[in-house]
Amino acid sequence: MNVEIVDKTDTTMRLIIRDTDASFMNSLRRIMLTEVPAMAIEDVVIVENSSVLHDEILAHRLGFIPLTTDLNSYNLPEECPCKSEFGCNLCRVALALKVEDVKDMKTVYSGDLISENPDIRPVSDRIPITKLVSGQKIKLEAYARLGKGEAHAKWQPVSMCAYKFFPQIRVDEKRCDACKECVKVCSKQILVAVDKKIEVRNLIDCTLCEECVDACPADPSAIEVTWDKSTFIYDIESTGALPVERIVLESSSILGKKAGEFLKKLKKAK
Ligand SMILES: [Zn+2]
Repeated sequence: MNVEIVDKTDTTMRLIIRDTDASFMNSLRRIMLTEVPAMAIEDVVIVENSSVLHDEILAHRLGFIPLTTDLNSYNLPEECPCKSEFGCNLCRVALALKVEDVKDMKTVYSGDLISENPDIRPVSDRIPITKLVSGQKIKLEAYARLGKGEAHAKWQPVSMCAYKFFPQIRVDEKRCDACKECVKVCSKQILVAVDKKIEVRNLIDCTLCEECVDACPADPSAIEVTWDKSTFIYDIESTGALPVERIVLESSSILGKKAGEFLKKLKKAK
């Protein structure tokens, strides 16, 4: 297997992975979606809420605010030695929200949540929670915990995680008269006319829509679009809960642990 990082920012990563298959790619994808833990608000104690949102809706909205996650310092509640339903300092983080004395109108944002641990805070301060008008108040304490996407989507550390086969485009020069019909229909500008010839650029952006194949007036089409079944373009976007490379590393290590456990059980079964 050969892995190449072609693009990386704090929250996104694009990999090209060669000499592998779809089942392995999909295993990683499903683990990123469902088994890599992230922090999210799970319990909310509402002291006062005179906003137009019902308590339940307010709590639900708070749950979906992505929180920065520290996997090294916190335990999953089910694995924490405290075994307490209420949690302890190793498995729970409290965040307070207190907005009152509203003049005219005010939007309550995620940035108004004050965390007891500055490392666990909303990924963005500009996520609207609700609007208050004068006289309305919100006072609550929220408790965040680690969890997994398999229990609830709010614990997914990725907002996008997808792969596609690596495209292959072949232009038959004998049948192509460079009429440029294929160039006109390609929304990704992958085909370019150069010196009465059609050239392929930025193949990685091809969505395999095959519009170019249909647009070609030659019969049969001078363009052939196929894909390499052992090479993948893998795009991952973090919600901001974890650095994107940590999500990839965690998912690989979870998959490795599963394979190790299977091997151990298999040896015992003999
Ligand atoms: Zn605990």
